[in-house]
Amino acid sequence: VVEFRGVVKEFAGHRALAGFDLTLRAGEFVALLGPSGSGKTTALRVLAGLESTDAGSILLNGADVSRLPASRRDMGMVFQAYSLFPHLSAGENVEFGLRMRKVSPEERRSRARAALALVELDAHHDRYAHQLSGGQQQRVALARALVTQPRVLLLDEPLSALDARVRVQLREEIRRIQTDLGITTLFVTHDQDEALAVADRVAVMRAGSIEQIGTPEDLYARPVSPFVADFVGLNN
Ligand code: ATP
Repeated sequence: VVEFRGVVKEFAGHRALAGFDLTLRAGEFVALLGPSGSGKTTALRVLAGLESTDAGSILLNGADVSRLPASRRDMGMVFQAYSLFPHLSAGENVEFGLRMRKVSPEERRSRARAALALVELDAHHDRYAHQLSGGQQQRVALARALVTQPRVLLLDEPLSALDARVRVQLREEIRRIQTDLGITTLFVTHDQDEALAVADRVAVMRAGSIEQIGTPEDLYARPVSPFVADFVGLNN
């Protein structure tokens, strides 16, 4: 279980997060949806420990982790795109996820193989990033994020650089893997179709806090404001 409680994050006096509250239940897939600048990426980065917070707390299974360094928070992350090391093969990129762990070289290799198999890229183990399509690169990034068996998976617009067909395919695959592993997942996107298609619950963000959170059906049936209605596409 992940809890943000009253989290505030300011950049030069501007509140990117203005008392942000969100609870992710164990195994849940939650999408953070909102316009550019609403604070989605900042929420994900403070959870990962890549940004500090100015107020509030972040709890992981009841323990406050907001002062822990990123390396001790046990999160797997996938970013927008181009995050693989170009001079390493797919397999080496995934093994890189284990570099800080006390894992023998043999175990590193076998775990990397297993993670690549999970994203159906076992056959591409020895290819370099530039020999992979954009969708394949993002699958490798996903394998790298999962190889450490993190407690939480954080996805920051992982599909936004891909073309429409691959985007739909890969979101279904991410959802399938997430469900199989039962891993608690926070998925940032500005694409309402994507959020509503894959998430158990969608949190609509506006100006640093959550305007409404609910199942896709809730948001469609009972939007709390014109902003939410607009954002889930009801007014189009
Ligand atoms: P996008 O969809 O465009 O990525 P977002 O909803 O993820 O937007 P954030 O990236 O979280 O929004 O940004 C929230 C606000 O905080 C924005 O006004 C942004 O300019 C500001 N901000 C974010 N990171 C920084 C930073 N490192 N330094 C200064 N301001 C920042």
